[in-house]
Amino acid sequence: MRALLRLPATPPRRRAALAAMAALALPALLRAQPAVPPPAQGQPRTADPAARGVPLSAFPRLVQLTDGVYGYEEIRQPGFTTVSLVVIGSQGVLVADGQGSPEATQKMVDGIRTLTPLPIRWYVVGSDHGDHTAGNSVLPADVQYVVHPTSLAQLRRDSAAATGGRRVVVPPRAMAGDHEVIDVGGRQVHVRFLGRAHTGGDLMVHLPDAQLLFMSEAYLNRVFPAMRSAYPSEWAATIDRALALPGVRHFIPGHGFIETPAVSREELVTFRNAVTAVIAEVKRLRAAGRTVEQAVAEAQWGEVGTWFLTNQQAPVAVRRVWAELEGTLK
Ligand SMILES: [Zn+2]
Repeated sequence: MRALLRLPATPPRRRAALAAMAALALPALLRAQPAVPPPAQGQPRTADPAARGVPLSAFPRLVQLTDGVYGYEEIRQPGFTTVSLVVIGSQGVLVADGQGSPEATQKMVDGIRTLTPLPIRWYVVGSDHGDHTAGNSVLPADVQYVVHPTSLAQLRRDSAAATGGRRVVVPPRAMAGDHEVIDVGGRQVHVRFLGRAHTGGDLMVHLPDAQLLFMSEAYLNRVFPAMRSAYPSEWAATIDRALALPGVRHFIPGHGFIETPAVSREELVTFRNAVTAVIAEVKRLRAAGRTVEQAVAEAQWGEVGTWFLTNQQAPVAVRRVWAELEGTLK
């Protein structure tokens, strides 16, 4: 573990203003945590560690979000972060999303050991994709999984198709509804399905007392909207539901940097607008009579085209949006 990073302290005057706003807007229960900090001046908005001025040697790192709650940022290929959430209660540790290999997830488990001797007892499948789940075999055998039925079905398919010694952990059962509450001891963790987004089984972790929402891959911070298994227009609507959750101030992405609360909301809106801009661009080209291959070649992305993974993900997104427009997505 390289570093335990604390987000910069809020200047007192701004803190007082935020606290006053929070007191007006929020019920008493949600006022327990102090307001969390504004961004450093001039912080570049990017998923690229080099452009942001963070050396790769700084990773992996644990970012403290509030008492007993941490984001874990680790670098994956081709050089941006995958984020996991760690919530420590008096009864054990809850992890939302792992990393992309047994080695990478073991490193995260070792990092958690530096914070607490308590066992990892709960694991939330925010994203069923391998870059978040392929290391789950190193988690304790008795860990309780929370997984959406859609993601459970995907993990079953991935497990059946796994070759070359890879092992995909398949949880024994899926969650029953769209909302589950886990008492980790001294803190209630709400697992929420707010609608289909990046995988179709997208789960989010809501900590009302910390005013925080871990969104997994439904929120890619300055990463081109990755749509291989996405539901493009539903994704935008799901983000709108997250933005409208009462009392949430801090939105944590599944890839890209963890931001301070105010920036996290701004960037989530920016990402939602990127999703709708991608849809609009494909609609434009289709309405102009292009074929899907012509649309892939001709699409103009504007600023979103400067984000991480554009070259890899833009063609995938065009085909996926095209399928949605044709009505062939299930
Ligand atoms: Zn991912």
